[in-house]
Amino acid sequence: MKIIDGKQIANEVKDEIANKVKAMMKEGQPVPHLAAVIVGEDGAAKTYVDSICKSCKEVGFISSIYHYPSDIKEDEFLQALDFLNQDEEIDGYIIQMPLPKQIAMDKVVAHVDPKKDVDCFHPINYGKLLLGEADFLPATPYGTVELMKRAGISANGKHCVVLGRSNIVGKPLAMLLAEKSEQGNATVTICHSRTANLKEICATADILLVAIGKAEMITAEYVKEGATVIDIGIHRVPDATNEKGYRICGDVKYDEVSKKCEAITPVPGGVGPMTMTCLLLNTLHAREKKWRTSE
Ligand code: NDP
Repeated sequence: MKIIDGKQIANEVKDEIANKVKAMMKEGQPVPHLAAVIVGEDGAAKTYVDSICKSCKEVGFISSIYHYPSDIKEDEFLQALDFLNQDEEIDGYIIQMPLPKQIAMDKVVAHVDPKKDVDCFHPINYGKLLLGEADFLPATPYGTVELMKRAGISANGKHCVVLGRSNIVGKPLAMLLAEKSEQGNATVTICHSRTANLKEICATADILLVAIGKAEMITAEYVKEGATVIDIGIHRVPDATNEKGYRICGDVKYDEVSKKCEAITPVPGGVGPMTMTCLLLNTLHAREKKWRTSE
């Protein structure tokens, strides 16, 4: 059984990005700049944004944080996005969700300049993804297929069962796997909370990709002998035996599933590290595209 080491692969990708940044600097090009927008005082959102800045530093990117109060009015917030859209020095930006209820999410998403939409939320970028013409890919599905590629796991001709159909993970992941492309060419089944015979369908998967947000729900019964299992879920569950009082786990019951499959991603240390890395890759793509069009 192979444990797919997402941390190591993410570090390899980060080294490649850092080398590209060094080459850009050598040529006198400005280095990529990723900005993060945060509204309110949510602790988890702040931690995530801090980790983005840390990752940017590791690869030599510039990062910046734009922090607004939780009572900011919708039109003021959209004006703030105008500033980010127009700032030539910012290559891409992310908006930390959820936003306060006075701000309509669909207006915000549509307001982001698609060229700077490194989260790939804008309808234009989502549409391009479906057409197989993407400039950016949503970070988690991107991280998942990149991880599989670099770990030598081909989806070509395989039956992939994607468990979960959210707009940011399950649905785009299924599209990438079905795409006529190097990382795609799979036969894909999408499952969700209304799927009948879920266990039986999952047990037909050559590659089972799980993004349901239910801690350790996927037991060995859901998995075919010799399958590959990609666990995208991430949870903090109480654990009195751990000195921290909790442990991190995925949507898959690792101990029993790992005994049955040919390859598996651990949690933590599987898809998670690749998600952040792919946000950096999207920023690099935005930067490279801008530079090419300005030449
Ligand atoms: P959502 O809650 O948005 O979507 C969950 C999906 O799973 C839905 O499509 C839902 O079905 C389906 N589902 C829920 N319960 C069941 C069930 N009992 N049986 C079958 N299907 C079910 O979650 P996300 O897509 O945002 O995230 C999924 C997981 O991935 C979470 O654990 C999250 O923490 C993790 N995640 C990890 C990231 C990483 O970097 N590693 C990044 C992003 C997310 P329905 O549509 O019918 O409601």
